[in-house]
Amino acid sequence: MMTLVAFAISIGYVFSVAATFLFPGESLYWEIATLISVFLLGHWLEMRAVRGATGALSELARLIPPSAHLFKGNHTVDVPTSQIKLGDRVLVKPGEKVPIDGLVISGETSVDESMVTGESRPIGKKNGDKVIGGTVNQDGSLTVEVTKVGIDTAIAQIMKLIREAQASKPNVQLLADKAAGVLFYVAVIAGITSFIFWFFVIPQGVIFAATVAVAAIVIACPHALGLAIPTVTTITSTLGAKNGILIKDMKGLEIARKLNYVVLDKTGTLTRGEFGVTNKVDARILALAAAVEIHSQHSIAKGIVNEARKQKLKISEVKDFKSFPGKGAMGTVDGIKVAVGNRALLLDQGIHDKSKFPSEDQGKGKTPVYVIVADKLTGVILLADIVREDSKEAIEKLHDMDIKTAMLTGDTKDVAQDVGKQLGVDTIFAEVLPEEKVNKVKELQNSGNVVAMVGDGVNDAPSLTQAHVGIAIGAGTDVAVESADIVLMKNDPMDVVKAISLSRKTNAKMVQNLFWATGYNVLAIPIAAGVFYPSFGLLLKPEWAAILMSLSSVIVIVNALWLRRAKLD
Ligand code: ADP
Ligand code: MG
Repeated sequence: MMTLVAFAISIGYVFSVAATFLFPGESLYWEIATLISVFLLGHWLEMRAVRGATGALSELARLIPPSAHLFKGNHTVDVPTSQIKLGDRVLVKPGEKVPIDGLVISGETSVDESMVTGESRPIGKKNGDKVIGGTVNQDGSLTVEVTKVGIDTAIAQIMKLIREAQASKPNVQLLADKAAGVLFYVAVIAGITSFIFWFFVIPQGVIFAATVAVAAIVIACPHALGLAIPTVTTITSTLGAKNGILIKDMKGLEIARKLNYVVLDKTGTLTRGEFGVTNKVDARILALAAAVEIHSQHSIAKGIVNEARKQKLKISEVKDFKSFPGKGAMGTVDGIKVAVGNRALLLDQGIHDKSKFPSEDQGKGKTPVYVIVADKLTGVILLADIVREDSKEAIEKLHDMDIKTAMLTGDTKDVAQDVGKQLGVDTIFAEVLPEEKVNKVKELQNSGNVVAMVGDGVNDAPSLTQAHVGIAIGAGTDVAVESADIVLMKNDPMDVVKAISLSRKTNAKMVQNLFWATGYNVLAIPIAAGVFYPSFGLLLKPEWAAILMSLSSVIVIVNALWLRRAKLD
């Protein structure tokens, strides 16, 4: 674009200088001066719009308060937030912003986290809870121990993701860039041809020929085409971030509009992943199980440990801890070998005991976890999870959008059926081992579906990568976030619907913008080249060509800016 404008201006200028000093003739000074002014005005408007769109980054940076109350012994001193180190303790007073990420060590309050998660309800915080820098403390005062500083803080991570997203190009932009490249040659050829035509074929004098050539080049400038997509994507990433949807890769969001199958992980995605123990378990067995599970990240493990703590059981040290993803875990407790897990783990341990525990029958829809002590099956712990209220609505909305849903889980068929029925999902894949999850996604893809995978766990990471669109939920585990194209800050399945809606809206804007950017200019090229001059006397002067060219850029920018107002649902 710059080359073309420089080219057009140079021709006009050289020609005018020659007309002034070398041969008598009219000059194009006025035309090229107007062209430059209009062009600069367009550029100024564009910069303003772009700055408005990238404002999300500076808005986020402003969330972090400049100073914090740092504890020095029993009293506090105010220090710049940037000087706070890991392990420091800071005081957060009512109504103040939390300066940095940390753990609450005393005090109780609720915190408005909407700027980070998009969740508008204040979240209750007490001892041991995580707080995020930049969120607003409401009514209580808190002492916070700093757990993250610098680029590790949540806000810094979000800013990094937004920057990455803005740098990632959707495929349609690569296409637009190519088209802009082609349009460059079209412009040069249109300019040269019209000069030759109006100078040699139907001689109208050099002034006329040069004016027409300059106008044709200017009108063909693919300026708007270069803006059409980036203006939309910057606004999309900002709008997404405001709704708790972080887009890591624009290509993923681009495909999301075509989705017709969404696969959701059960535990932690459709359900809360907060397991409670529902049967009476022998205290010794529970304590042994908890001793092993205390080292596991799995939500089932957390449920077992919580129950043991609730019963104030002594949780011993474990040696030789080993985890078997999708099956369970084992270790040595007080010299006894203890394994905790599902049927698959029992088989691995060579226990083919088909006997049922009496309590298992009342356990319909509950997840059984077997406890093997010294190679003998000695107990079962039944756990139940809670289905998220939003899951049902999300599944319904997806169906409304003509998208099928599947639930993928390592849990038993019983539990999967139970949850699946409650939610109305179309397909249920149960008792799937972590390494097979990815095959289920492939199966759906091979039958011609465009598939999204939604998950939170380490074991979901391969499927997130395999799916056309990988969506990590609840800002899950780091591995899940790494493998995903889209990261949802909240644990709300409705945000999957929002992300798809954002994708569709973004795409519509891109198509409109491409239309305005090309259609408009391409139509005006023949007019500028003087095609309609002989019969209608219709001609486009260079200054008008410049105005039209800038106008198409302005239309493209304004059209993109409208996306900022879009509501996602
Ligand atoms: P999901 O697909 O629901 O996230 P996973 O693949 O993580 O489930 O686990 C599948 C099954 O493996 C669980 O339902 C549970 O029966 C068993 N399991 C996995 N990890 C553990 C553990 N640490 N303790 C007990 N059982 C476990
Ligand atoms: Mg999971």
